[in-house]
Amino acid sequence: MSKIAIIGAGPAGIETATVLARQHDVLLFEKENAPLCNIRNKALLFPDFTSADELANNMMRQLEHPRITTYCDTDITDLRKAQNSWQLTDAKGNQYEADYVVLSTGYQIFDAHKKEELGYGIYPGIITSIDLEKMIKEGKITNSIGDAPKSVTFLQCVGSRDEKSGNHYCSKVCCVTAVKQAIEVRKMLPNTTAYVFYMDLRMWGQGFEEMYRTAQEQYGVNFVRGRISEAAATYDQRVQLKAEDTLMGLPLNMTTDLLVLMVGMCASEGTDRLAHAAGIAGKYNFAQSVSEHLKDNLTEQEGLFLAGSCKRPMSIQDTIQDARAAAITILEQIA
Ligand SMILES: Cc1cc2nc3c(=O)[nH]c(=O)nc-3n(C[C@H](O)[C@H](O)[C@H](O)COP(=O)(O)OP(=O)(O)OC[C@H]3O[C@@H](n4cnc5c(N)ncnc54)[C@H](O)[C@@H]3O)c2cc1C
Ligand code: SF4
Repeated sequence: MSKIAIIGAGPAGIETATVLARQHDVLLFEKENAPLCNIRNKALLFPDFTSADELANNMMRQLEHPRITTYCDTDITDLRKAQNSWQLTDAKGNQYEADYVVLSTGYQIFDAHKKEELGYGIYPGIITSIDLEKMIKEGKITNSIGDAPKSVTFLQCVGSRDEKSGNHYCSKVCCVTAVKQAIEVRKMLPNTTAYVFYMDLRMWGQGFEEMYRTAQEQYGVNFVRGRISEAAATYDQRVQLKAEDTLMGLPLNMTTDLLVLMVGMCASEGTDRLAHAAGIAGKYNFAQSVSEHLKDNLTEQEGLFLAGSCKRPMSIQDTIQDARAAAITILEQIA
């Protein structure tokens, strides 16, 4: 029986832990005070509007296993290969030893403050998709003065596919999240108009295209192919938008009550730090596997494996499949 350390208790870490615990001892580390912070900060999940809390509660039950020891409030800050084992150090200086390590440190959202021209943190009424999730979860969507907004406008690709921020990749989950959130806005506030500004809509998953059609046909969401170049506050606390409709080739000036920035997925601080410490940092500070085709859970460091969105943006379904693949890869290596 081996001792396996898993860093990060998101869906990837928990799923990997569950499979490995059938045969091995697992130490699962989480920097927050509880696992699944990037699931609990959501209300309903695409593609089928499953409750995020319900999924999280089910995953928590998986952790009730005698071979899994979970350490919360434990931010792993360093990772080193010793002779025949791995040494992990946390932010308080505690050290842990394991035979194998799985990095499942996931993602963090793009910091919208970096897009100053979009006014996040400067003007009221400009929020991120995660801020909107929180409102949806609390059952109350409000504008900057606490009233129900008359219009909500979504802007895609904030901090992804973006020359200025240096993130050229597509974050994969934000198109479908905007469609899902626009439907939720229209369900909760039937008198509110919803606009989605997009470059192109990437509805790649099963059921996504249907959700897009439902958004238009059943919920009357307005999709505008175009970019918003600037956002600022009006004298009456609304949001003034300078935009372009790129299908019509026309400039647009409009006001809205709530501008929702669809922020992309970036490598989390933990992913960035530990991938660099272990010498496996890849593009955009995500962790680099050996090969995306056949060795996507392996790294160039013997005994160090990868699971989930620490490698690149992915949905929960893809994360869970990837975590199972990681566990099988490890079991094959240990055998
Ligand atoms: C706005 C938005 C909405 C989304 N909505 C959906 C949706 O509806 N449906 C869907 O399928 N997907 C959705 N996703 C994607 C989903 O959040 C991810 O697929 C999923 O969270 C990835 O799981 P993970 O375990 O790889 O990473 P994470 O969930 O990020 O988990 C990583 C864990 O590692 C911990 N960690 C990081 N560094 C350290 C460290 N150094 N030491 C210890 N612990 C550490 C973190 O605290 C975290 O708990 C959405 C994403 C965004 C941005
Ligand atoms: S998923 Fe959509 S919104 Fe997100 S980066 Fe890709 S194209 Fe842009």
